[in-house]
Amino acid sequence: MTRLHDVIVVGAGPAGASTAARLHQHGVRDVLVLERYDFPRDKPCGGGLTGHCDEALAALDLRLTVPFVPSAAARVRFGSFERTVTMGRPVNVIRRIEFDASLVEQVRARGVEVRVGAAVDTLVVDRDAVTLRLDGGLELRARVVIGADGAASVVRKHLTANAKALPHRLFMHELPATLADTAMVYDFTPMQAGLRGYLWVFPVTGGRANVGLMHYPSSRKGGPELLRVLRDGLAGYGIALPAKGSRGWPVWGYAPGARVSAPRLLTVGDAAGIDGLTGEGIAVAMEQAQVAGDAAARALSTGGFEFGGYRRALRRATVGRELALDRWLARLLYQSGPGWQRWMSLVLFDPDVLEMYAARVSGSEVLADQKLRLWRALVRHVGASGGRSRKLRAAMDQPAASSASSSPASSPASPDAAGSSS
Ligand SMILES: Cc1cc2nc3c(=O)[nH]c(=O)nc-3n(C[C@H](O)[C@H](O)[C@H](O)COP(=O)(O)OP(=O)(O)OC[C@H]3O[C@@H](n4cnc5c(N)ncnc54)[C@H](O)[C@@H]3O)c2cc1C
Repeated sequence: MTRLHDVIVVGAGPAGASTAARLHQHGVRDVLVLERYDFPRDKPCGGGLTGHCDEALAALDLRLTVPFVPSAAARVRFGSFERTVTMGRPVNVIRRIEFDASLVEQVRARGVEVRVGAAVDTLVVDRDAVTLRLDGGLELRARVVIGADGAASVVRKHLTANAKALPHRLFMHELPATLADTAMVYDFTPMQAGLRGYLWVFPVTGGRANVGLMHYPSSRKGGPELLRVLRDGLAGYGIALPAKGSRGWPVWGYAPGARVSAPRLLTVGDAAGIDGLTGEGIAVAMEQAQVAGDAAARALSTGGFEFGGYRRALRRATVGRELALDRWLARLLYQSGPGWQRWMSLVLFDPDVLEMYAARVSGSEVLADQKLRLWRALVRHVGASGGRSRKLRAAMDQPAASSASSSPASSPASPDAAGSSS
C-alpha cells in the first residue's frame, strides 16, 4: 500500500513554496511538494513584487535573497498624458527564474521535500485520502492535497469540472534595454486599439527590461493580435520586440464565488485565481498560502477535512478583500463597453486615484480599507466627468511620447499637467 502523506502540495511556485513554509510553521512535517520542472525554472512574469509581498515574506519567515531593482515610482501613461507617481514604498522587481528557485531552496533548507520532475496527471478523492497519479504511472496518497499548480491547475480542473471561462491573457519578454530610470511604466494607451488592460515596461537587473501586456477577458483576442499591440506600443518607447521569444499564457481571475476547495482539496495562488485588475499574483499566492496552510494544519489536528469555510476564509483575508475590490474595479474599467473612457478619465485626472493606485501597487496601503476615498473620487467624478472626457480625448488625439526608453524621463507631471485636476 502506498504511504499516506499528511499533505501533498502540487506545484512549487510561490504558492507551493509558501504553503509548504506555512505548514512547516505549524509544525506539520509530513509534507511533500511535487513539481513538474527542476529548478531553476523560468515562468513568464513581469517580476514585480507588488502588493503585500514584503508582509507575506515576513509572515512566512522567507527572505528576498536574489538581486532585484527597487522601483520607487510608477509612471502612468495614456496617449500624450503621462504622470509619475511616487510609490508609498519601492516595489522590488525580480527575475522569476531566480526568485522561485530561492524560495524552494529556503523551504528545502527547513527539511521540506520538494520532488522535481513529478508531474501530477490525475487525482481521485475518496473518503480517507486523495490519490494522485503522476505522469509515468506512480501513485501517491495524502490526507490533504493542495493545488498550487498555477493557471493550468489539474486540481482546479477537478474542482470546477474544467468549466470553460475566458481567461486573462498576458505576454511578456525580457530583453536588453537602457531605461531612463527605474520607474515601473503602466501604459493604458493600447486601450484605444481595443486592449482592455495595459502595457508595462519594468526595469530588470543587468541592464534589461521586462515588457509585456495584460488583456482582460471582456473581448476575445488572439495571441498574434495581442503581440502586435505590444509591438506597436513598445515602438513608442524605442523598444523593438524581437520576432520570437515573447512568452505568456492564459490565467483566470479570482472570483469570490468560485469553487476553491472540496473535501480534502484546496487551491491556492493562480490555481485559485489572479488579481483581475492587474493580472498580478505573486503576493496574492503568498498571502493565500497562509490561509491554505492554516486550513490544512487545522484539518490535520481536528480531523475535519471538509474545508467548507475555506472560500470564505480566502475572501475575508486582506488578500481576498483586495482581490474582490480589484475585480469590481476591473469590471468598471475593462468591461464597460464604450464607457471605459469615462472610467479611464477618472483614473487619470482625479487628484487622488493614481495615488491610491500607486499605494495598491506598492502595498503601502490596503486599498480595500480606502473605500471612502474611492467613493469620494466617484462622487467628484460625477461633476467633473464632462471636462475630464474632453481632456481624455485630447490625450488620445496626440501621439504618445516616448520617455521610458534611453532618453531621460520627462519631469513628473501633476494631475493638472494634462489639464485641471477636477
Ligand atoms: C506574462 C505574465 C506577467 C506577470 N507579471 C506579474 C508581475 O509582475 N507581478 C505579479 O505579482 N504577478 C505577475 N504575474 C502573475 C504571476 O506570475 C502568478 O500570479 C504567480 O506565478 C502565481 O504563482 P503560483 O505559485 O500560483 O503559480 P506558478 O508560478 O505558475 O507555479 C505553479 C507551479 O506548478 C507547477 N505545476 C503545474 N502543473 C503541475 C502538475 N500537474 N504537476 C506538478 N507541478 C505542476 C508548475 O511547473 C509551476 O512551477 C504575471 C503572469 C504572467 C503570465
